Amino acid sequence: MIPFGTAHRAVATTKTMLDPPNDEYFMREALRQAQKAYDAEEVPVGAVVVRGGKIIARAHNQVELLKDATAHAEMLALTQAEAAVGDWRLMDCDLYVTKEPCAMCAGAIVHTRIRRVIFGCADPSAGAAGSMMNLLQMASFNHRCEITSGVLQKECAAILQDFFRKRRDEQDSLTS
Ligand code: ZN
Repeated sequence: MIPFGTAHRAVATTKTMLDPPNDEYFMREALRQAQKAYDAEEVPVGAVVVRGGKIIARAHNQVELLKDATAHAEMLALTQAEAAVGDWRLMDCDLYVTKEPCAMCAGAIVHTRIRRVIFGCADPSAGAAGSMMNLLQMASFNHRCEITSGVLQKECAAILQDFFRKRRDEQDSLTS
């Protein structure tokens, strides 16, 4: 006879194998974080760090709340991940972020040696993962990341566009 607990675990394992988490799954989690930023009237960007198929850090942009220009979602997620791993090296970790990282975040990503960066929408004017520059794959740096772009691109861009449209409308109504 199989004890109940064992059978239950076996079922759970089978289900996981049938439906493994993929890039879209983790990007949805990052989008959930972006929504938290949106609700808090922060520029809606969210990030999660994944290690061994598990989310070990989740964060959203908190620049306004913390009055800290460095409080981007990626920076906060990296710090959380370092604490979770107990090391500043995150070589077996992947970072999912809704918008292409800026130069500051890309620098931090290289310093923490993140394995792979997956982002939603590109940032043509300031993106440092291939748009404006590519700090994640500099030949002269001692670490380079794999990059996957365009995961849930429409959703990731839509929440930003919606946020800035709303902010413009509010400013227009103040000045008219
Ligand atoms: Zn940034």
